[in-house]
Amino acid sequence: MRTRIRRVRSVFSRWGGPSGVVLGAIVIAMIMVALSVVSLYQGRLSAFERAEDISKSLALIAERDITRNFEIYALSLQAVVDGVSNPVTMGLPPKVRQDVLFDRATTAQYLGSVLVLDEKGKIVLDAAGPVPRHGNFYHREYFQIHRNRPDVGLYISDPFESQLRGGSPSIALSRRISRPDGSFAGIALMAINLEYFHDLFAGLALGPHGSMSLIGEDGVMVMRQPFDPKIIGRNIRSASTFRRFMSAPEGTFTDTASIDGVRRLYYFKHLKGLPLIIMTAQGEDDVYASWQHRALPVLGLMVVLALAFVAIAIMLSMQLRRRLLAESELKLLARVDGLTGLNNRLMLGEILEREWREARRERRALSLLFVDIDHFKAYNDTYGHQAGDNALLEVARCISANIRLPSDSAARYGGEEFLIVLPDTPANEAAEIAERIRNAIANLDIAHASSEFGRVTASIGFATWDPDRDVDEQTDAAKVIKAADEALYHAKAAGRNKVLPGEAATAN
Ligand code: GH3
Ligand code: MG
Ligand code: MG
Repeated sequence: MRTRIRRVRSVFSRWGGPSGVVLGAIVIAMIMVALSVVSLYQGRLSAFERAEDISKSLALIAERDITRNFEIYALSLQAVVDGVSNPVTMGLPPKVRQDVLFDRATTAQYLGSVLVLDEKGKIVLDAAGPVPRHGNFYHREYFQIHRNRPDVGLYISDPFESQLRGGSPSIALSRRISRPDGSFAGIALMAINLEYFHDLFAGLALGPHGSMSLIGEDGVMVMRQPFDPKIIGRNIRSASTFRRFMSAPEGTFTDTASIDGVRRLYYFKHLKGLPLIIMTAQGEDDVYASWQHRALPVLGLMVVLALAFVAIAIMLSMQLRRRLLAESELKLLARVDGLTGLNNRLMLGEILEREWREARRERRALSLLFVDIDHFKAYNDTYGHQAGDNALLEVARCISANIRLPSDSAARYGGEEFLIVLPDTPANEAAEIAERIRNAIANLDIAHASSEFGRVTASIGFATWDPDRDVDEQTDAAKVIKAADEALYHAKAAGRNKVLPGEAATAN
């Protein structure tokens, strides 16, 4: 029971003491750093979300422009097909027919040639003038597709270099012209200058490492910003990014571009009603640049503050440790006899009180030994005070060596008198221990010429509190001490160098 209380107390003092201060500071510092890491991480997430919003907005601007223009182009192209299929229109004089077939939209800024080809691929009608330019596009992919498949509708070609406009890169919008019986009569086509996409993308702010692309759903690159003529027309079907573009109608992801090896945040969207994908990408470095700019100093400062906090706590704990050590030394000094190192009277009082309480509660016998050195005044007179002190020290050591530590305690009661407290010790055991001590002191063999024994000896009186005899519980510790003191007196009277038990009724 007692040891458990002590253990609890020592655990409490360990965590409440200097180590606890350092541990507490470390925990607080870690929480400080963790909180700032969490808030910085949230800042990073919102930087990502902001970039995502910008990507979506840019893609939306481009998408609206492209779909609106393509709608107008498609309507113009449909008008050409309808006109060519109408015998009334075809019967008009060439000049008027020209105006009816090719409306004003065909003169739009980025529009190239607008042509009608016959079933052999030869130009038969040309928006550029009543007399068509010479040219045959039989071998173009778009021509073959319409020729072989009546149900293609509006077809958007891969980029090609225009034959009629000095090789300027273009894509073609085309529709099949069928005869009333459904047979192939040729195609109407409209070339769109890739400059249109180039100018559209160039006007959108993408950031230093940003890029924007328009890609056919077959994987062919129609336009890319930053612009590189070598990339146009390249098929990126096998790139990991393209596979992700094809996995959903729109989406966001991070990947390293196969074209330039830069890691980017991608946003892609399939254009409504067109076989095209618009893609915006922002360099990851750009996305997080301003966040990094703010986050790193904040984190650094937080770590430094946390370390400083712990360092201050360590310093404080060291000071606290020193103070506690000094305090415990002082406490020890206040409780220890300076000459013998045994407990002093103050400490003896505490020990007696504690042991007496324990003995009563646990109903266990408690014995007290009173030890007094024989003819010590004479020893001093003969050998001097210093020799007396040395003899006292030796006797004290001898007593310590012959009791059962740590349960037994010895104290210097005063002068050359010692009191020994023996918890849980009945009278017969106390007598044995007393005899052992008496014998051991005599065996120190410290010469004492004026003693009848020729050496330093001691007399011991002892008394025992026996719970079985103390029926009315009237005895107190003072009574037991008194009984032991009287026993000592009798031992002296009986010739010294003797052990005698106390006479008190309840105390032997
Ligand atoms: P008795 O056998 O009857 O005990 O004789 P005694 O001479 O020991 O008697 P008493 O107890 O009256 O004397 C105690 C002496 O112990 C007195 C003093 O000279 C000596 N003494 C007490 N304290 C000290 C001490 O701290 N150092 C030294 N050297 N002597 C001390
Ligand atoms: Mg004495
Ligand atoms: Mg004495």
